Amino acid sequence: MKISSKVAKAFNNQINAELHASYIYLAISGYFESLSLRGFAQWMRTQAQEEIEHAMKFYNHLVERDARVELGAIDKPPRDWKSVLDAAKAAYTHEQKVTKMIHDLAVLTDKEQDFAANNLVQWFVDEQVEEEQQTREMVKNIEYVGKSNSGLLMLDKKYGKRKEDD
Ligand code: MG
Repeated sequence: MKISSKVAKAFNNQINAELHASYIYLAISGYFESLSLRGFAQWMRTQAQEEIEHAMKFYNHLVERDARVELGAIDKPPRDWKSVLDAAKAAYTHEQKVTKMIHDLAVLTDKEQDFAANNLVQWFVDEQVEEEQQTREMVKNIEYVGKSNSGLLMLDKKYGKRKEDD
């Protein structure tokens, strides 16, 4: 079944959103590097990589469905955040925004009766539950340690243990 122009357009738009998410994570990673929090930086770098993989899932779907891939400009992410907590909150807020976009795609693909596209989107519905949980937990953890530098270094060690495919 040929993909509808509406779904193709929305998927192309989502490729851009996932790449933008990757850019934001990479920027947050750079911010953590500047604070010598290499564990947090590593976690964000891995997350940035994962977002590229997400973009490629939509890209591959368009190719498999004989639709055109159309790439747009990626918005510039911020360079700095006010604090470690602020940077983690930015990640969590962004994931909530992505979840909303994925849910909109679920509604659209359902309305268009595009079951193959809807199946792909359902994978992302589950993925977003995990993405929100992980970033929400990071915010909570940083809130727990408060102004304790030793607490923050302990967390840095914990987040540095993230593996590539986690
Ligand atoms: Mg994503």
